[in-house]
Amino acid sequence: MIATITLIPAPVDTEGDDRYVWRHGEDKYKPCFSSVKTWEQIRMQHPTVAWSKIVWFPHAIPRFSFITWLTLKDRLSTGARSRAWGCIQACLLCGEPDETRDHLFFACPYYFTVWIDLVGYLLGSHVNPNWSITIASLLSSRRKEIDTCLLKLTFQTTIYSLWRERNSRRHQGHPQSAAHMVRIINKLIKNRISSLRHRRPSFYSDMMQCWMGHTT
Ligand SMILES: [Zn+2]
Repeated sequence: MIATITLIPAPVDTEGDDRYVWRHGEDKYKPCFSSVKTWEQIRMQHPTVAWSKIVWFPHAIPRFSFITWLTLKDRLSTGARSRAWGCIQACLLCGEPDETRDHLFFACPYYFTVWIDLVGYLLGSHVNPNWSITIASLLSSRRKEIDTCLLKLTFQTTIYSLWRERNSRRHQGHPQSAAHMVRIINKLIKNRISSLRHRRPSFYSDMMQCWMGHTT
């Protein structure tokens, strides 16, 4: 410690007063604080996962993104998880005894009916009840930008709405039909596109036309 201390020059008046600086990176200090730079230095760094593109994107709705992120990490409190805590929970929509993430999205007949109704025209022959195939299909780059945006937005809105419906039934709420869920999700998507129009008027106008053309 003494050897280290002796390496640091003693303060001298000619160098001016001491002042605080914030570390912005390796050997990079500035007088201003940056929460981004600070977070980047203290957080644990991991490689970017491919599915991050379908969770975090500019026109996403934050609370929908959060539920989608939980779903992709398989952290929703489905029956498969609650069984570990001693609580048996079958699928509330179809009665399947093993209520897993992959069953809900979208192997469950109720969920798949809603999903195919909303994105059947966008995914065409690629629409599939298998979770992994659906994710791979959403990540495909061979699609127009508008279609990709609509698919990602629909994916998140569907997961959020269906998980909410599942929880409502879990707590004795009034069950909604698949057709009613499609209408609710459709309205949420239209409202989101409308709220974004000021950002890129022609792009979101085209997106709305595309969506309306297939869903009304
Ligand atoms: Zn089910």
